[in-house]
Formats: sequence, C-alpha cells, structure tokens
Amino acid sequence: MIRVEAQQAAGPDGRQPAAIGVTSKGDGVLFELPEPYLALRAEARALADSVRDRAAEADERDDVDPHMRAALAGSGLVALTVPGEYGGRAERVDSLAVTVVREQFAATSAHLDSLFVMQGIGSHAIGVGGSPAVQRRWLGPIGRLDAIAALGLTEPDVGSDLRAITTTLTRDGGELVVEGRKSFITNAGDADLYTVLARDGDGYSLVAVPARTPGVTVERPHQIIAPHVLGDVVLDRVRVPADHLVGTAGKGFRPVLDTLATFRVSVAGAAVGLAEAALREAVRHTAGREQFGTPLARLGPVPAMLATCWTEIEMARALTYRAAAAAARDPREGLHLSSMAKVGATEAAGRVVDRCVQVMGRFGLVRGSAIERLYREARPMRVYEGSTEVLLDSLAKQLIRRYTEV
Ligand SMILES: Cc1cc2nc3c(=O)[nH]c(=O)nc-3n(C[C@H](O)[C@H](O)[C@H](O)COP(=O)(O)OP(=O)(O)OC[C@H]3O[C@@H](n4cnc5c(N)ncnc54)[C@H](O)[C@@H]3O)c2cc1C
Repeated sequence: MIRVEAQQAAGPDGRQPAAIGVTSKGDGVLFELPEPYLALRAEARALADSVRDRAAEADERDDVDPHMRAALAGSGLVALTVPGEYGGRAERVDSLAVTVVREQFAATSAHLDSLFVMQGIGSHAIGVGGSPAVQRRWLGPIGRLDAIAALGLTEPDVGSDLRAITTTLTRDGGELVVEGRKSFITNAGDADLYTVLARDGDGYSLVAVPARTPGVTVERPHQIIAPHVLGDVVLDRVRVPADHLVGTAGKGFRPVLDTLATFRVSVAGAAVGLAEAALREAVRHTAGREQFGTPLARLGPVPAMLATCWTEIEMARALTYRAAAAAARDPREGLHLSSMAKVGATEAAGRVVDRCVQVMGRFGLVRGSAIERLYREARPMRVYEGSTEVLLDSLAKQLIRRYTEV
C-alpha cells in the first residue's frame, strides 16, 4: 500500500508548503479501499465461499433458492441495502459498500448477487420517499430478508423509454388503484413488495404494492440465457391505501433516479468480480494444458489475451471504486461516473469472458461449466439498469453541455 505524506520542511517563505510525496511506506489508503471496506470484502468473500457448492444449482433456478436466502439472511450483509434507522449498517445506503460486496458475490453466484442487491433496488425509493407507515412496515423485514423486494418499471412494450409506460394510477374513495402489467421484473413471484412506476394524470408516480394485495398475479412468459428470478407482474385494478404512494404524486421519477444513482455503480462491481472469476478459470486451464509442447498460457496470442483481460479488469475496477466512492458521498452528483463505470466494466466483462472462452477452446463451451455460466451471466449486464447505448447517449449529452456552456 502507498500513502500520501505532507512534507515537513518549511518553504522559502517560511510557510509550510502544500507539496505532497507518495511513499511506499506505511498503510495509507491512496487508491486502496479503506479498512472498513476491506473487512466488508473479506466478510462477503467468506459468505460467497460458504455457498460455492450450491452456486451452480441456484444460478439455474427461476425462483429464490431457500438455502441462498437463509445464508444471506444469516450473514447480516443484506442489511447494507436499507438505511440505518431500519437496521442498516450505515446511516444511508453506501454505494461503495454495496459495490464491494457485489464484486465478491457475482464472482461466485449471480443468484446470490441478485438476491442481495434487489433488496436495495426494490426498496430504496421507500427509504427516501415512502410514508412512515410503509417504511416501518417494510424496511426492517427487507433488511433482514424476511421480506423480498422488487422494482417494477419495465412493461411488455416499454423498456428504455420509461415515459411511454401505460400502467396507470388513479384514485377512488381515498385509495390508490393501479392497473397495468410490469414485465421482466426481478424477484417476481417471490417478492413480498413491488415498488411500481405508473402514469398518474400528466405525471408519473411510484406506488408500493404488497404482493398479497388482491389483483396482483405473476406470470413467467420468459426464461433468459442466464436464468434469473424473473416474471411479469399483472396488476388488475389493485387497490392500496393512499399512504402507499412513494414520494410526491406526479414526481415518481425522482425516487427512481435516487435508486439508480445509488445502485447503478454496483453493477460495475458485479461485472468486475465476474470478469475476474472468468480470468481465473482461463489462467488455470491454459497454464495446465499443453499444445504443441507448450502450455497454452505461453503459446501464440494467448498470453497477450490473458494479460489484456487482466489490464481491462484492473482499469474497470479503478473506475468502479472511484465512481462508487463518489456515489457513496453524493449519489446524484456522481451519477455520470456511475454510468461510465457501468458501461466500462460491463463491456470489459463481455470482452473478458469472450476471450476466456476462446482460450479454453472446446472446454470453454461445455454446458454447466463455470466459464460457460459466467459467459452467459455477463451478457444481460450490458442491457439492464441502463443499456450501454442509452447510458452513452446520456453521457454524450452531458459531455457536450460541459464543454460548450459557459
Ligand atoms: C436480467 C434482467 C433483469 C431485469 N430486471 C428488471 C427489474 O427488476 N425491473 C424492471 O423494471 N426491469 C427489469 N429488467 C428490464 C430492463 O430494465 C430492460 O431490459 C432495460 O431497461 C432495457 O429495455 P428493453 O430491454 O426493453 O430494451 P429497449 O428499450 O427495447 O432497447 C433495445 C436496445 O436499443 C438501444 N436503445 C434503446 N434506446 C436507446 C436510446 N435512447 N439511445 C441509444 N440506443 C437505444 C439499446 O441498445 C438497447 O439495448 C430486467 C432485464 C433483465 C435482462
């Protein structure tokens, strides 16, 4: 580790100079995670190691694996996804903590990773804008994994362009009435609470919909290439009390943005962890297999491919930690960095797993192998929580504003 040390000698004007020097001594934290996050990383790795034997089976399920759930609940790490007031481990959800944990989880099990982060993604809006009664009812159980959370934005005909949603929120006799269909919703079927975005007159509102409310049903029309707890949530004139509105009526995108600003960067952490796991597989295989009398890891372009993977992972990790630290300080202020990290790390993970499969030859293609699973699991990351192209388009707009406006 390196640290920054202020120089002690006074300058020519007698004042203490602001010069700094980097030494290789000491235990400072320049470009390293601070100690509490290193401890958290070790805790997350220990949990991931403890469920490693179940990972392959759990990752093929389209409903929540009870053993994974029990292990995650027992660890207490899931409390990182809710505010301190409701049992969370920090006063407010800490993006760097979530990112560090996801890096470890995604290296071992996409199922564990998703189960963890969706507790935050599905409930964050309630933490920032829910009524006191809804916060009290749900955030404690969610932080202990006694209840499962989900976020319903996407619809059958609407993905990136959320302003085109057709689910509606109306009012009747002091109650809120939600009508529509949400599609590709993580945890659908297992969730106890859906936070749903709906059209509300000329605006959009978020509403908390307990899964057991009459009129809520779940269908599973799709299975994706990397199995995921996923389904469509049908909302057939669902009535909930007025205090289930989340945030201000007509301003539902605000808590959605708060959620993305806090959690988007953690996708980058998951991508880094996944890519590193793939590279480990590829190095082990190519170092141990000889062709033409030489280990594959030293043959032709293979060493350069492996080293390029390593380089890309370290670059992605550096940006990811920087963005996550910025988001931990101020999620909205750091959102452009979170978007860059999400694009950079998920695209890098895509390239890394592809190269890893290639250098493993036919063994990279065997169904059920670790590398095959990682290859499939890397792909959706470039689509959900803001596809690469949508995020780049938004970043380009900010870039042009930044360099053209005085
Ligand atoms: C595993 C998984 C889990 C998911 N979980 C949830 C969940 O829990 N809750 C939820 O609400 N949704 C969820 N989704 C849905 C996800 O949010 C959407 O897939 C995502 O928003 C993209 O929408 P779409 O798939 O409809 O793609 P489309 O909007 O149809 O876009 C297709 C492609 O077109 C391009 N594109 C679109 N718009 C633009 C633009 N403006 N500029 C440039 N290019 C553009 C992009 O390349 C994009 O990938 C999940 C999806 C997956 C795969």
